[in-house]
Amino acid sequence: MLTILRLSHRRVRDARLTTHVCLTARALGADEVILSGERDENVLESVSDVAKRWGGKFKIRYEEKSRKIIEKFKGIKIHLTMYGMPVQDKISEIKEKSKGKDVLIIVGGEKVPGEVYQLADYNIAVTGQPHSEVAALAVFLHEFFEGKELTKKFGGAKLTVISQERGKKVI
Ligand code: SAM
Repeated sequence: MLTILRLSHRRVRDARLTTHVCLTARALGADEVILSGERDENVLESVSDVAKRWGGKFKIRYEEKSRKIIEKFKGIKIHLTMYGMPVQDKISEIKEKSKGKDVLIIVGGEKVPGEVYQLADYNIAVTGQPHSEVAALAVFLHEFFEGKELTKKFGGAKLTVISQERGKKVI
């Protein structure tokens, strides 16, 4: 089970970015996203709706208190932050340690509480440059799954894209 914890969601300012975190997580092999911060029915509904139409078993749920989730989580906890250790130096160790265990990947928002750095097993940087939780998550998942996520199948889909050189085909 691979879970993404999205910290400190703000309904008005983060709706689009948080939705993109969730859709990226789903598309690139995560099993679920836990949303913390402000409860946002729009994000919960729109992501669940995409998951229903495009298949697979991806789930999204809300938990108010992120600290509790991190503390209670039994498995490997990875916090993505520009201040952490380079992903390219740590990914082999993380994959080894994660074998047969659940994995929690924590991505921040505007401000990340200091305690998250202590509670995580790994603080991991996707470059030491500031960018985005969506980009950091995508690169981390690609490294973690070694590219296998690109061919993941989404069972029970109502919609599927048929790849085309040009144009769009959806069945
Ligand atoms: N300075 C903020 C902080 O407290 O970490 C950065 C906020 S950034 C806008 C939002 C999130 O994007 C971060 O919490 C982190 O999860 C992710 N992020 C941004 N740049 C990153 C990087 N270079 N490596 C890993 N994660 C990054």
